[in-house]
Amino acid sequence: MNNNSPLSHRKEEPENGILYIVGTPIGNLNDISQRALNILRNVSLVACEDTRQTKKIMNKFNISNKLISFNKHNSLIKIPIIVRDLKEGKSIAIVSDAGMPGICDPGEDIAKSVKSEGIDIICVPGACAAITALVSSGLPSSSFIFEGFLPKKKIDREKILLEISKNEKTTIIYESPKRLRKLLNELLELCGGEREIIVARELTKKFEEHVGNNINKAIEFFRDKDIIGEITIVIRGIRKSDFIPNKSIIKKDLTDLIDAGLSLSAASKYLAKKNGLKKSEVYNLI
Ligand code: SAM
Repeated sequence: MNNNSPLSHRKEEPENGILYIVGTPIGNLNDISQRALNILRNVSLVACEDTRQTKKIMNKFNISNKLISFNKHNSLIKIPIIVRDLKEGKSIAIVSDAGMPGICDPGEDIAKSVKSEGIDIICVPGACAAITALVSSGLPSSSFIFEGFLPKKKIDREKILLEISKNEKTTIIYESPKRLRKLLNELLELCGGEREIIVARELTKKFEEHVGNNINKAIEFFRDKDIIGEITIVIRGIRKSDFIPNKSIIKKDLTDLIDAGLSLSAASKYLAKKNGLKKSEVYNLI
């Protein structure tokens, strides 16, 4: 076939399609972008966490397109099918129930597989609860740590909570309303009641509220309430100027140092200096 042939531009292999990762609202359906709607309308199919949730958006904006379910229970089966369709030239959108796919939602694994096949991924950005809570918290937002959901296993959870309590950066956590009281009490123990915190509930929805502005006040606010709805917590990092030695953290550090081979005396001396305490105050903790 010479270069002037009408078929000269035809490829033997079909070109790959594109995987669009599409952000959807975290509550208020009007928070969807025009571009997201165009993509949902025009791709070959939409892979969604729960087809019933995605249908709410599709119906509101009069979009009818093919939906397939893609979630943590079926991702092992669905990923190869999606990759095959993309390789056949179909373009596919992936959406989660709320917010950005891949942020504590299905999306991470498919992005990894698709990328490793050399297929293009384009993100159509949308709402994310973590960022929405952070920017409305009034807490430092130029550098922060996103922890997502904390582990449930005691030892892993304690480790991460301890890290959060010592961190100088703002931390964002997702938590279920059922476990919010427990989390606030864990934070009280490690950070003290004065640490600034905002509990953002039902962001972008009718009963949106921002509760705080410190751990004591948040605990007080939720004391006699039924806690329901979606919750994101933003915690201010520790400030060197208002560092108050926390006995339970120092005790944990002391145990860790002893476990690592230091004598009680040497570990106490080191931690006393670090925390501005007398050696005996640390020594007597255990
Ligand atoms: N992919 C989503 C995102 O981009 O934010 C997060 C999905 S994760 C499975 C769901 C968690 O996000 C909820 O348990 C809650 O912690 C947080 N979240 C979602 N919507 C929220 C809202 N409207 N207000 C506060 N937190 C919300």
